[in-house]
Amino acid sequence: MGGAALRSRAPAAEEGSTGAAAPRKLAPGLYVVATPIGNLGDLSPRALETLAAADAVVCEDSRITGALLHRFGLDKPLVVYNDHSAPRVRPQLIARLAQGAALALVSDAGTPAISDPGYRLVKEAHEAGIPVRCVPGPSAPIAALSIAGLPTDRFLFAGFLPPRREARRRELAALGAIPVTLVLLERGSRLPELLADAAELLGPRTAVVARELTKIHEEVRRGTLADLAAVYRTGPPPRGEIVVLLGPPERDAQEASEAAIDAALLEAAARLPPGRAAREVAAATGRKAEELYRRLQRLRAERTEG
Ligand code: SAM
Repeated sequence: MGGAALRSRAPAAEEGSTGAAAPRKLAPGLYVVATPIGNLGDLSPRALETLAAADAVVCEDSRITGALLHRFGLDKPLVVYNDHSAPRVRPQLIARLAQGAALALVSDAGTPAISDPGYRLVKEAHEAGIPVRCVPGPSAPIAALSIAGLPTDRFLFAGFLPPRREARRRELAALGAIPVTLVLLERGSRLPELLADAAELLGPRTAVVARELTKIHEEVRRGTLADLAAVYRTGPPPRGEIVVLLGPPERDAQEASEAAIDAALLEAAARLPPGRAAREVAAATGRKAEELYRRLQRLRAERTEG
């Protein structure tokens, strides 16, 4: 029991200290700390301990993280690290870490670096020989996947698809040809269009819209893509934060997957020479480029004949 408790703590600089007194001193390094996606009760004891003990907290937005820390009675130096400030701030953070600082990286909500700032900082910390440790916890895409009732043995997280409709349809067609559960993020205002396009391009599949997870207005809708598209077609767009999950083509709906490949091929061939179109779809789907090239020629011949 005691051993497990000790292991569950952030690594301590002072080995041998049983550390009853908080905050414990942290070993130097970058700590990637997950924070709640809505319900503050989801901040783990170890996350709290790490935030309390870090020399500074690196965050996307000082107001949001300041409010979270305040809620837990912490007052820490904050360093703002977002898309705007990252190029300027990152070398300073790496220099501090190299000098032995213990820095906690958080995002506005959920797990840093997952569709949030952090990837380059983590990468450069590794490259500089700085220890990088995780303090895992909530993450909206994984939370949604865990309750979706869709296959989880293989899934693909694609974040936000492009906002422009044409580019989004292109990506949907390419992603839809891969036989895995797709996990997407979307704004309420674009959800109806995303579902309508997915229903048209990907054919019959089970899908889930997970909205405002862990919050008061949490809502999980599960059904066929066509049914969900119909639910959101009318009325005001849904509010709040949303994860959309698209199940893989069902075994007896293999035809739909083949139709998605045809759609992706024809779409790519409208922009690119046939060889490059086949290679692009091959890269996205794991199919062989030569096979797709022949298929494209056949499709075009059928269209000419038809
Ligand atoms: N790094 C974060 C994580 O691990 O949860 C994800 C960051 S991403 C920029 C934020 C998006 O995640 C939101 O726009 C929304 O699509 C989704 N999201 C965040 N919180 C959510 C919640 N409570 N319920 C449903 N979706 C959520």
